Amino acid sequence: MKDSKCFLYQIEDLVFSYSLGSQQVEALRGVDVMIPASTLVTISGPSGSGKSTLLNILGLIEPVQEGRVLFRGEDMKWMGERRKNLIRKFQIGFIFQQFHLIPVLSTEENVRYFLTRQGLLKEEVKERVESSLQAVGLWEHRVKKPSELSGGQKQRVAIARAIAKQPCVIIGDEPTASLDQKTGYEIMELLTRLVEKQKTSIILTTHDPMVQSFSKQNIHIQDGRLCG
Ligand code: ADP
Repeated sequence: MKDSKCFLYQIEDLVFSYSLGSQQVEALRGVDVMIPASTLVTISGPSGSGKSTLLNILGLIEPVQEGRVLFRGEDMKWMGERRKNLIRKFQIGFIFQQFHLIPVLSTEENVRYFLTRQGLLKEEVKERVESSLQAVGLWEHRVKKPSELSGGQKQRVAIARAIAKQPCVIIGDEPTASLDQKTGYEIMELLTRLVEKQKTSIILTTHDPMVQSFSKQNIHIQDGRLCG
């Protein structure tokens, strides 16, 4: 295996199946791929091809059943629950198609909410909330609730919430799918700037060629296998 420090994830012969009653549904059938750090990577493929399953394994939401996945050189199979929780809490930021904001909280409070559970000093929390909202261009809208924001602005809040953690990777399941093309394009420009300026790695699943056009590496999956 190549020098693990160059890669965020090293994936070898990854196999994953779901149990559905007495049936086994094979979602991944032997995926081998290396994902470099500080890069925007997309995972594309038809519906049901295994994109979300792969993303969930990378986000430590699903376990490694067979094969090997190294996260920053560390074998995920041998991580205990405590270690996985720490990585999810501090090193991975998540963004979702439906934003997953807390409706009763303002923009600023949505970003602050998860940070306050990270054991940071008050001043540090304040500084991170402001700088992440500045980075996504929403500092002026900090008192607004999600219902007062457009779809694109909501996704920006979700991105601010993810980057405020200062994670090494942001993982997103179709984060532009519920936005119109122009807003989706603007979100992709913003994510690209994050990679360039903050060296954050970003991994997104997508159906959309526009989103793929922003990626340095596209992982195309069909029927649980890599193609192309
Ligand atoms: P994609 O994200 O490309 O649409 P998924 O990773 O969601 O694909 O699904 C891959 C395969 O696994 C599909 O056949 C899907 O039906 C199946 N699958 C996904 N989640 C579950 C689940 N929780 N239980 C059973 N089968 C599942």
